[in-house]
Amino acid sequence: MKKLLKCGVLFTGKEVIKNGAVVIDGETIVDVGTLDQITVPEDCEVLDLQDQFVMAGLIDAHTHFTVSAQNPGYVAGQKDPNEKKVLRAARNMRIDLKTGVTTIRCLGEQDFLDVIMKEAIESGMIPGPRALISGYGLKPSFGHGVMAAPFDGCDEVVKAVRTNIQAGADQIKLFVTGNEEDFSTFKFGAGRAIEKYDMHSMFTPEEIQAAIDIAHGAGRKVAAHCYGGLGARLLIEAGLDTLEHGIYLEQEEIDMMVEAGTWLTLTMNAYFNDERLANRGTPDQVKGFVKYRSDIQKNLQNAVSSGVKFMVGTDGQHGALISELELIVDLLGVSNELALKAATCNAAEACGVADKIGTIEAGKLADIISVQGNPLNDISDMHKVNVILKGGCRVDTLSDL
Ligand SMILES: [Zn+2]
Repeated sequence: MKKLLKCGVLFTGKEVIKNGAVVIDGETIVDVGTLDQITVPEDCEVLDLQDQFVMAGLIDAHTHFTVSAQNPGYVAGQKDPNEKKVLRAARNMRIDLKTGVTTIRCLGEQDFLDVIMKEAIESGMIPGPRALISGYGLKPSFGHGVMAAPFDGCDEVVKAVRTNIQAGADQIKLFVTGNEEDFSTFKFGAGRAIEKYDMHSMFTPEEIQAAIDIAHGAGRKVAAHCYGGLGARLLIEAGLDTLEHGIYLEQEEIDMMVEAGTWLTLTMNAYFNDERLANRGTPDQVKGFVKYRSDIQKNLQNAVSSGVKFMVGTDGQHGALISELELIVDLLGVSNELALKAATCNAAEACGVADKIGTIEAGKLADIISVQGNPLNDISDMHKVNVILKGGCRVDTLSDL
C-alpha cells in the first residue's frame, strides 16, 4: 500500500517546504511537494507528522560494525573472538537505526565480518541501516589500524584492493598515518603526544597511487585514515575521495583539498567527547588528544571555513551521530542546515550514493525521519527523532534493547 506523509516542515535537502507531503510507493518516494501540490493516492496509509520536522534518514559516513566506542574498554574489545564481535555488531546496528541512521559507511573490518553483517541486514536476518562496506582496511606493516591488515609493496596492495572488491567492498579504506597499537614507538609516540608538526606517510606514493588506481578503475571510492601532512598531500595528489579525521591538516593541505574536491569526514567525538576518550582505555594516547584539542579545533574550523566539503562519522560510537552534529555546530561554527546536509545529502554525494539516498526526491529510496521541533533552529532537536522509515518501512517501532 502507498504511504502519504503529511509533514509540518519538510526539509528535502534542497529546500524547506512548509506543510509538505511525501508519497511513498513500496520502498520508493514517488511524489514530493506541498500537500496541495501532490496527488494524494486513493487508499493509502496516512502518517500524520504535521507537528514535526521531516528530513532524509541520516548517514554515518565513518563507522565500524564491531567497534562499540560507546562502551568502556572498546579498544581492547577489538581482540574479542569474531563470534562476540558479530553479536556486538548486531546490537550496534539496532542502536544506529533507532537514532535515525539509515545508512552507514563501514571503514574496515577484520575477516570480512562486514560482508556477513551487510548480508544479514539485507536479507532481513537482523535490523540495521544500509551498509557501504570496505572489507579489510589496508595498512603497511606496523601501521595504525586495528581494522586493517598489512600489505607492503604495490603488488600486495593491488592484490588486497582486488580481493576486497571481489568480496563485495563498496569502497576501499587505507590507513596512511600512525603506527601500530598505542603509537608508542613511532613519531606518534605517546610520550610526545601526537605531534602535529610531524605528520608522515606510512605508505609510499607508489603504494597509495596503486591502491587508488585499482579502486577507481573498478568504480570504487577510496577513503583514507589520515591526520594531515605528507600523507594528506600524497593522497590528495593521487586522487583520494574522502580523507578521514584530518585533525592536523594545515593550510597547504586544506587548499589542496578545496582545489581537488576531496571530502573530509569529521569524527569529532573521537577527540572532543571525554566519555569516549575514557572508554578508549588508553590513557597516554588520550592525554595526547586532550593536549592538542585546541589545535584540532582550530585546524578543523579552518578546513570547514576554507570551503573543504565535509560529512560526519562516529567512528564506531553507535547512537552518537547527533552528538557529531552538535559538536560541528558548537565547536566548528557550522550552520545547522549544513550540519543536517553533512549527515544526509552531502554524505550521500561523498559516498557515491546520491542517486539513491540523501535527499527526499521522487525516485529515491524512502529513507526518511521525523523530528520533534526544528533542528534548523536548534540542532539538539535531532535527539527527538520520532518516525524512522528505511525503504518505506517503519523501523522506529523496533523495541529498545
Ligand atoms: Zn575508523
